[in-house]
Amino acid sequence: MKVRTRFAPSPTGFLHIGGARTALYNWLYARHHGGAFVLRVEDTDAERSTKESMDVILDGLRWLGLEWDEGPGVGGEFGPYNQSERVSIYDRYLAKLEEAGQVYEDEGAIRFRVPDKDYTVQDEVCGEVSTNLKERGSTRFDAETKQEVAANPDIIIKRPNGGYIFHFVNVVDDIEMGITHVIRGEDHLSNTPKHLALYEAFDVAPPVFAHIPLNLNPNGTKMSKRDKGALIHEYQSEGFIADAVNNYMALLGWSGKDDQEIFTLSDLKERFDLGGVNKSNSKFDYTKCCWVNGEHLKKLPGDELQALANPFLEAAEIPIKDPRIEAALDLARERAQLLSEIPEVVATIFASEVEYDSDSVEKVVNREGMKEVVTALTNGLKTVGSWTEADIKSGIADAAASIEAKMGALMFPCRVATMGSTSGADLVPVLQLLGKEETVKRLEGFSTNYL
Ligand code: GLU
Repeated sequence: MKVRTRFAPSPTGFLHIGGARTALYNWLYARHHGGAFVLRVEDTDAERSTKESMDVILDGLRWLGLEWDEGPGVGGEFGPYNQSERVSIYDRYLAKLEEAGQVYEDEGAIRFRVPDKDYTVQDEVCGEVSTNLKERGSTRFDAETKQEVAANPDIIIKRPNGGYIFHFVNVVDDIEMGITHVIRGEDHLSNTPKHLALYEAFDVAPPVFAHIPLNLNPNGTKMSKRDKGALIHEYQSEGFIADAVNNYMALLGWSGKDDQEIFTLSDLKERFDLGGVNKSNSKFDYTKCCWVNGEHLKKLPGDELQALANPFLEAAEIPIKDPRIEAALDLARERAQLLSEIPEVVATIFASEVEYDSDSVEKVVNREGMKEVVTALTNGLKTVGSWTEADIKSGIADAAASIEAKMGALMFPCRVATMGSTSGADLVPVLQLLGKEETVKRLEGFSTNYL
């Protein structure tokens, strides 16, 4: 049987990291098994569903590269893929339950009569969970007393206003769309017995269920949209690489049972299985997410890095067509974790004026003998012939020898004088990219202005 998974977001907000992780696991599972990944829009709640929200969700999935085989914009043989357009299908399924006497009207709503028996979810992650829905009962919020009170456990499947309820449409669509594996957040585990009761009523074998543990804040609280790292569209603007975000999301709840932490999307496709999904909740760690991004940045092919870095470089007015840009990006990838950090690392290479950081400058001017050091550097580097990294290093070594100092002692003032700061990319390759004339000019300017 061909594997068919689905991601079924309700378009009532942003694409949250928890939702995107669910989408990723479904996508990976389908791709791993050569199956199909379906995108279904659960927009039966007309009041809360918006087109803006749907667009944000679709854009987020596209940015992550989690393309869907069937769904909005793509079509497919089981469409339409928006629940709001599937009402006639739900009417047909309701009629089946009516015929079998399994539903009844209650104050304008339609309820499904819950059988008094145990339903056992055989979950691929959580194991076996048995529930008797009648015994478990139900509660509702009583507005008058402001308390949860006991309520009828029979499931409402249609509201008095005619709108169908989540449990019903979710099951009907999974049946109609031939979904074989339901991979979703653990917050839905307690709903699954209801869904099993509906499958039974329709005389359809349920799909495989896998409920993935929640993704929490480091302090164990639920993540909200205000927490850093919660919203997918912010990753893009903050300078993350989509595959690094996929990599980190994969690690948030799954492991390949070895020490490997850095995966390309195609590695993940190969390795992902439900057996590797953790049983306990995961904790979101923004610092680790940045580290994963940095590791991806180091490995990106040059042209991809350039394409991804361009918007950030342009915003910082760095000339992206400069012939030195490729080399500069290679230096930056060793220092930056996010694409947005790249301009700061390389800006000095392309600047017409050095921007001097006052703390760094102070550290140099407060040392003794700096005028002599910078003059020696200027003279040493002036005599360098071919301006390769090796020759630049010998120029600095010669300068050090000329004043009987250690070469290491010259690197720091040289960095501040030519790059303006104690931080940034490696000094010698930067000098090489600056060129001899610019390097000498910066050393002389520093000496004149600060020493
Ligand atoms: N619309 C539901 C949600 O966003 C989907 C649940 C499911 O995957 O079955 O939580």
